[in-house]
Amino acid sequence: MERNQFLKTLSLLTLSGGTMKLNALTRLTAELKRTDPLPILFLGHGSPMNAIEDNEFTRGFRAMGEQIGKPKAILCISAHWETRGTFITGMTHPPTIHDFGGFPQALYDVQYPAPGSPELAQVTKELVEETKVEITDEWGLDHGAWSVILHMYPEADVPVIEMSMDYTKGPHFHYDLGKALNALRERGVLIIGSGNLVHNLRMVAWDRLDAPGFAYDWADEARSKINQWILSDNHGALIDYQKQGRALQLAVPTPDHYLPLLYMLGLKNNRDEVQLFNDKPIGGSLTMTSVMISPS
Ligand code: ZN
Repeated sequence: MERNQFLKTLSLLTLSGGTMKLNALTRLTAELKRTDPLPILFLGHGSPMNAIEDNEFTRGFRAMGEQIGKPKAILCISAHWETRGTFITGMTHPPTIHDFGGFPQALYDVQYPAPGSPELAQVTKELVEETKVEITDEWGLDHGAWSVILHMYPEADVPVIEMSMDYTKGPHFHYDLGKALNALRERGVLIIGSGNLVHNLRMVAWDRLDAPGFAYDWADEARSKINQWILSDNHGALIDYQKQGRALQLAVPTPDHYLPLLYMLGLKNNRDEVQLFNDKPIGGSLTMTSVMISPS
């Protein structure tokens, strides 16, 4: 289905009833030309400078974009948008937000003019029964979203919406909310979580940032445990990350960069397989490990 027709169909869905819930949506989805389920991605975004660099990680993002092809739209859950309550961007042209300080002007000059999709925002809001989702125009695309998506889709021609993470909720809430988004996978929507699995900025070895591969022992231990749990579907251990000892506590000192992973795990079906890429430490206390969950 062409993008315009997709958007038109979505807007017809939203016009035909304000209280349309999951059953109605599922029925109408069946009338749409269903797509095969799209993969789900967790992307380790690292430094905002990755937006304007050409390195092994950005090449990893680009290769993933080429492998998946262009989706009809993207829903991104970024480490850099935490709110009280859950929000979705609803504007037709989300601004590029430069939510960082102290970087070269070239980074502030970057614009990623992908359109939004008010229709998809509305459908997503209606799809989620677990919690109240509010549509807002008071955000846009933060660097957790645009610094990676611009490598995957440099032409900025795929509509992107963002969903925020409610910082008042625990890990289980985020995992379950991920599950609730599952139907979007079969409607051509690529769901991306953007964060970093090991992310301790206070302990970064700034003088060793340029040479990927260096990790403190605890970061190596955390990376290897997290990876093993992802690959063996041990979601319980990943949801209970705060109870997994010192290495995990140092790796995830605050939940923001870790939680996007839980949405992606919640979206995983039994038929999906899991693959890691960009799986490298940087600066001692960060990892760029990224995850693709795709139908086998
Ligand atoms: Zn970040």
